[in-house]
Amino acid sequence: MRGLSGKVAVVTGAAGGIGAATARRLAAEGAHVVAADTDEAGAKAVAESLATPGAWVRADVSHEDGVTSYMDTAVEWFGRVDLHHLNAGIAGSLAPLPELTLAEFNQVMAVNVRGVFLGVRAAFRQFAAQGSAGSVVITGSIGSLRGSADLLAYQTSKHAVLGILHGAAVYGGPLGVRVNAVAPGIVPTDLFAATPDAVGGKDDMVRRASSTPLRRAGTGDDIAAAVAFLLSDEAAYMTGEVVSIDGGASVVSTVRP
Ligand code: NAD
Repeated sequence: MRGLSGKVAVVTGAAGGIGAATARRLAAEGAHVVAADTDEAGAKAVAESLATPGAWVRADVSHEDGVTSYMDTAVEWFGRVDLHHLNAGIAGSLAPLPELTLAEFNQVMAVNVRGVFLGVRAAFRQFAAQGSAGSVVITGSIGSLRGSADLLAYQTSKHAVLGILHGAAVYGGPLGVRVNAVAPGIVPTDLFAATPDAVGGKDDMVRRASSTPLRRAGTGDDIAAAVAFLLSDEAAYMTGEVVSIDGGASVVSTVRP
């Protein structure tokens, strides 16, 4: 198959949305999955629903002890870590630039950037301790590559993780560690649960997705399929890559020459 069977995978933000879909996909391909999330009940429900025995842990990726605890959980339950999907993220404030507070900006950076740094570092340390290679995927965003007026902190964080991606891929290559990213487009999850459905929430996402080239919103399974591919041996010659999974949204030009 694709070399995922029997591997141990840690997925952050696994209680719902894209992370839960990835956990299900990796388990369906035979991996053991540790579901890490601040939402412990959600992570437990996902872990208990998987096709292979899984584990769960309450962990806040923005803190060093949270990342340590999910790595420790994986080692305690399954003895090792081979695959890591760094997926936990928050949208944060949709306030326009002049109204965005420093606290709001910092909160998004703490989860979306510091969490990815800590997780990538922990993965490299664990691979070194095991004396083995491994594979890492970061969830970026179409906001890693494009800008919009109402998501300044979010898109700054998603641009920043590409810096981690590139540095980690160059560092990891000679060690046999591959690091890639997915850049989802519009996937109606709970990411914007705090915003009204009509203005930025799920209804608005579905409406905006209807004008992208593939004329629909993405699903968690659409993203999970690409994550599983990048984590697998089928992507053995890919590292440092950002794979857009956005129904073609990012190739549309808004400027007509
Ligand atoms: P979601 O809200 O359904 O899932 C995010 C998960 O992360 C939740 O289960 C949440 O509890 C968890 N989480 C939040 N903060 C955390 C923390 N500090 N520590 C641990 N877990 C934490 O949203 P989603 O759409 O599935 O988002 C997953 C990833 O996909 C995020 O990184 C997001 O930025 C990215 N993304 C989503 C979209 C989209 O349209 N939904 C588009 C591009 C990128």
